[in-house]
Amino acid sequence: MEIPARQYKRPTIKQILDFAHRTPTVESLAGFAFSYGYLRRLVVARRERRFTSAQITPGGLTENVVGAEWSEPIIDWKGEPEDVDLWRREHSDMKSFEESFAWLNTPADMRSGDMPVVPIRLQEGKFNGEAILYHDGDVDPVEVLTLYDETESYKVADLRKQLARVVAAKLSENPPDVRYVLDGNVLKEFRVCTLLHYIWLQFQRLLAGRVAVKQCKVCGFWEEKGVGYQRDTWKDHPACGNRRRKREERAEQKK
Ligand SMILES: [Zn+2]
Repeated sequence: MEIPARQYKRPTIKQILDFAHRTPTVESLAGFAFSYGYLRRLVVARRERRFTSAQITPGGLTENVVGAEWSEPIIDWKGEPEDVDLWRREHSDMKSFEESFAWLNTPADMRSGDMPVVPIRLQEGKFNGEAILYHDGDVDPVEVLTLYDETESYKVADLRKQLARVVAAKLSENPPDVRYVLDGNVLKEFRVCTLLHYIWLQFQRLLAGRVAVKQCKVCGFWEEKGVGYQRDTWKDHPACGNRRRKREERAEQKK
């Protein structure tokens, strides 16, 4: 995949979940990349300058070399090129998370089918202990904390812990890039993260209960509370609900 180097906006939680929900095609994967950038690559601004060894003053290179001007910033990608296979693998992990989370996010008395199995394999020995479980208060920045509801059954709590471990491992494999620059007397921190880190950070926020979302019972796509729906009783998109009722009416008339 070749996409232009420029600044990309971040997807919303709905756009991430809907992307994970869809069956991936080369077109849909490329479409996501064109909208939000590469998964693991960062856009950087490079500057170049050319000089001869004669221009270097004793003491080595300095920011300013007389007679060698920096070029205008060149916007470019940093990191390894990405192919469709990488995108398929990462999409598959996102889809597993989305499906398991959908089950957890459904009230216990409305769940159908067996509890999903999380097929995401983690490196041996990595995050195989207890996940850090966290409920109240807010810490910023939040990395691997997650929610544990003590009223849940052992099985359900275990699924939540599995997902927490997956999120922790994914965030850890794709850490933010942190740089420090001394600007006068001020130490400035620059923190940038890849799209993949950003996506798993949103999954972490979901798991920790910091964002409320619901999945439409008809089409399976997601909405965020306060954006796509308001009341906790929301079950489906109005258009989806109408379609479902018409279908049921027709089925009723045939009887
Ligand atoms: Zn719908």
